[in-house]
Amino acid sequence: MTHIRSVTVLGAGTMGAQIAAHLANAGIPSLLLDLTPEMAREGFERAVKLKPDPFFTPEARRLVTTGGFDDGLPRIGASDWIVEAIVERLDVKQALFEKVERHRKPGSIVSSNTSGIPIGAIGEGRSADFRRHFLGTHFFNPPRYLRLVEIIPTPDTDPAIVEAMGRFADRTLGKGVVGAKDTPNFIANHIGLYGVMRVFDALATGLYSIEEIDAISGPSTGRPNSATFRTMDIAGLDVLAHVARNLVERLSDEADRKAFALPPLVEELVKRGWVGEKAGQGFYKKVQQDGKSVILALDPATLEYRAQQKVQLGSLEAARSIEEVGERIRTLFLGKDKVGEFLRATLGPVLLYAARVTPEIAHSIDDADRAMRWGFAWELGPFETWDAIGVREVLDACGAGDPPPLVREALAGGRNAFRPGRGEGKGLRLVPPSAPDLQILRSAKERSKVVRHNAGASLVDLGDGVLCVEFHSKMNALGGDAIEMLRAGVEEAAANFQALVVGNDGVHFSAGANLMLLLLEAQEGNWDEIDLMVRAFQGATVGLRYADVPVVVAPAGMTLGGGCEVTLHGDRVQIAAETYLGLVEVGVGLIPAGGGTKEMLARMMAHAPKGADPLPFVQRAFETIGFGKVSMSGPDAIRLGYLRETDGVTMNRERLLTDAKARALDRVREGYTRPAPRTAIPVGGETVLAALKLGVHLAHRAGRISDHDKLIGRKLAWILSGGSLPHAAEVSEQYLLDLEREAFLSLCGEPKTQERIGYTLKTGKTLRN
Ligand code: NAD
Repeated sequence: MTHIRSVTVLGAGTMGAQIAAHLANAGIPSLLLDLTPEMAREGFERAVKLKPDPFFTPEARRLVTTGGFDDGLPRIGASDWIVEAIVERLDVKQALFEKVERHRKPGSIVSSNTSGIPIGAIGEGRSADFRRHFLGTHFFNPPRYLRLVEIIPTPDTDPAIVEAMGRFADRTLGKGVVGAKDTPNFIANHIGLYGVMRVFDALATGLYSIEEIDAISGPSTGRPNSATFRTMDIAGLDVLAHVARNLVERLSDEADRKAFALPPLVEELVKRGWVGEKAGQGFYKKVQQDGKSVILALDPATLEYRAQQKVQLGSLEAARSIEEVGERIRTLFLGKDKVGEFLRATLGPVLLYAARVTPEIAHSIDDADRAMRWGFAWELGPFETWDAIGVREVLDACGAGDPPPLVREALAGGRNAFRPGRGEGKGLRLVPPSAPDLQILRSAKERSKVVRHNAGASLVDLGDGVLCVEFHSKMNALGGDAIEMLRAGVEEAAANFQALVVGNDGVHFSAGANLMLLLLEAQEGNWDEIDLMVRAFQGATVGLRYADVPVVVAPAGMTLGGGCEVTLHGDRVQIAAETYLGLVEVGVGLIPAGGGTKEMLARMMAHAPKGADPLPFVQRAFETIGFGKVSMSGPDAIRLGYLRETDGVTMNRERLLTDAKARALDRVREGYTRPAPRTAIPVGGETVLAALKLGVHLAHRAGRISDHDKLIGRKLAWILSGGSLPHAAEVSEQYLLDLEREAFLSLCGEPKTQERIGYTLKTGKTLRN
């Protein structure tokens, strides 16, 4: 089997530099080469400055070495994989690969990141051995964040190489791998751009503004926040134009070629250099007005930027209450209003087109759905969307002429769907996992393995003696339901299972405690109620730590406040690479009181050598909580001290629970025993308290923190130094939990804390009052 331990990336432009960054994220060193050493260095520096960050941690940057082709190519013999991401020109790529062939070691994999040149043509002229090891690996921009990698073999590529590359992209890089046929622009760009072109047609009618189109083609219809035009500004209109021209040039069907012809508006924008964010303007333009930055929108008729117009589309407002995305799309699509008309004119044709071309460009409808989910961040792929609306309904609304064969098959036998569903007509028919060891929680639920259920959480049997606590409320905010299920999970696992995993399939593990509930109680002055809530939460987190079976917590996405506290109490943590984890309670005027403050202190103090000055260790916990530090990735959570060296990272989100389960079973095999309660956590007493308070005082005097921050800071310092103890001492966990609860309750009574909570609930942002 081919192991990829070191890589050469050819071309340090947009894609090459970011591919090198993502390799570094996976711990793989790379040599990043361009025409000159300076160009490579500049490409790397540009990547370092990009937002969002292509690197998981600042340390990861060290794994990238830069150089020029002249000096660098002779060194590529050390690389197991050589990936090319230079300018999109066949002759230039071919010439470079000729040099690569001279220097690569036998057996090394070679690939191109081309978005549209036939892979077979790029490999022409090379030796048989080269061609056996050569294929397309098409990453999407930005490579860290967009999950798709299309893998395109040629007839000469050794299937073992395709398999090795797919495995590496999936497990090591965490990508969603889709095998594509060597057709123009492969799968996702081909289908995606067809949709974009139909939106341009709609824009040209003058019936819809840019803002209206983005409102319809965003999260309302299962598309990313950046919807259509902002996505294009981010990707670059020049890139879009390039892909469209390539399709026009290479597609064989005349009507299809016409369908990809660039509209005059885009031609003009590209001519003017208004290609999107990198040029400072595209369909939108950010300007400074009265000292504030404002985003203006383009008026396509006059090519002038104007203030954004408020979108008023009643059906979009109404559809907000429809939770399930498929049902929402169906309702909007069939609506008799402007939104329905827009979707029937734009989404309908792309569904028909996908049904027609999928057999030529992909190996299955599943792959087409995955490509669009992972490459364009669609919540539902084209065939999932067909099924959500109903095949017959789409056809009646949009299908003139003969339906494509795939559609005819879907209608055969009165099925009205591409995929069989659970009970005709009910529930979403989703693309299955691409391998049986992916999405194991979902498969368990489909096999009816739910042991217990309430509105906020469930217990699910993952098989092999592992039970899972799954949160499933909105943003997985933790309320009484979820807390009760954590407690029940520990009890059930101890009685009937070998191990417990806490994890879910949500985008976010948990956005934190249910603040709405807390605010209501605080405003009513129900201190006893709040006291009980905090006690229950502390009981649940401590229960995880002292369970009779090993507990592995598997966070992903936002894992904030209470979500982070749950994580801190796992025997082990298996964290997804894209996890934003932190104790952010201070932002809402509180301190972590679900055992988070106690746990951070205990962890930091565990690093302190006997007899050492405790201050630097306490200080670290103080700053992490006080600044509400949030990790920018899974590995970053280890760097911040939220996780331990014994915790693991999973690159591929769909494998997270598989890995968490395996880790839990490893712990069983290792002979897990419940840890003894910590009865002697060293605290610094008055000296440490005075030092921390001084820090708070100085920050306040320098104007860096508000009055309220100062108050919270002093409460935090109080807990972390052990409360009213006159000198250094050792305390129990319960002692610290009591201090946490006391501080939390008193902060709940502060008007400014209530103001902060209210603000965050309303805006999703934090208020620094
Ligand atoms: P880019 O223009 O940002 O970078 C291209 C790099 O090629 C530059 O660093 C440049 O110095 C180098 N280069 C230019 N002329 C060269 C020559 N004669 N010989 C060798 N190197 C030369 O381009 P990019 O957007 O990073 O695209 C690189 C490849 O990836 C292209 O094949 C493109 O189609 C593909 N791609 C791009 C995107 C995207 O969104 N930008 C997405 C997927 C795939």
